[in-house]
Amino acid sequence: MTSVAIKDLCLNFGSVKVLKNLNIDIDEGEFLVLLGPSGCGKSTLLNCIAGLLDASEGQIFIKGKNVTWEEPKDRGIGMVFQSYALYPQMSVEGNLAFGLKNARMPKDEIAKRIARAAEILQIEPLLQRKPAQLSGGQRQRVAIGRALVRDVDVFLFDEPLSNLDAKLRAELRVEIKRLHQRLKNTMIYVTHDQIEALTLADRIAIMRNGIIQQLAGPHEIYNRPVNLYVAGFMGSPS
Ligand code: ADP
Ligand code: MG
Repeated sequence: MTSVAIKDLCLNFGSVKVLKNLNIDIDEGEFLVLLGPSGCGKSTLLNCIAGLLDASEGQIFIKGKNVTWEEPKDRGIGMVFQSYALYPQMSVEGNLAFGLKNARMPKDEIAKRIARAAEILQIEPLLQRKPAQLSGGQRQRVAIGRALVRDVDVFLFDEPLSNLDAKLRAELRVEIKRLHQRLKNTMIYVTHDQIEALTLADRIAIMRNGIIQQLAGPHEIYNRPVNLYVAGFMGSPS
């Protein structure tokens, strides 16, 4: 079954066409990586799916429902940003609970969800700390935890590992892969890092100037690039 369907999606900033008639069907449980150089429109596409930006044309469906004009909170998605976006004055536990409290979830259910997320992400010892008392890798785990506790259908990641050093990046890459194997939900993951794409993806969408150049499994893309751009991009890891 299709989890996220993007139909003829266009987005313009003024007269600049940033997304040009995109069509993508993402299967339930699929790990899709959006890969492309800086400025090609990856974040813009993710923000459209999340509802943080309005499409200029086209539609977005999640689990068959047209969500093009739905509020972000009603789309069943959780988003993890490069910059963590944690509330600095709140503890880790407070950060994890915040969205659930706003949704008036009962206290015992909130506690249960936080305990589960903390166990999955191995942040149990950190629950009473403030974000400033965490390392970059720990902050990113908390940011992932915030999507996890909401029990969403679709996770959106925007370059979540870009601020981390190479060793932590490699570690968290493995953890995100494990998380996906455990949760089996749909994940759409933006990166400009070929290694991340090849390790994580069920399929990779290679973007350039707001257009998908090729959408296929990692092997296919690596072995049978459709054009020189894809070949060059996959062949020169940054
Ligand atoms: P990526 O995430 O792939 O690096 P973005 O989606 O952030 O790329 O940006 C795609 C293009 O849209 C870039 O040329 C960028 O300058 C432009 N852009 C992004 N946000 C805005 C905005 N709010 N207003 C005008 N142009 C924007
Ligand atoms: Mg971006």
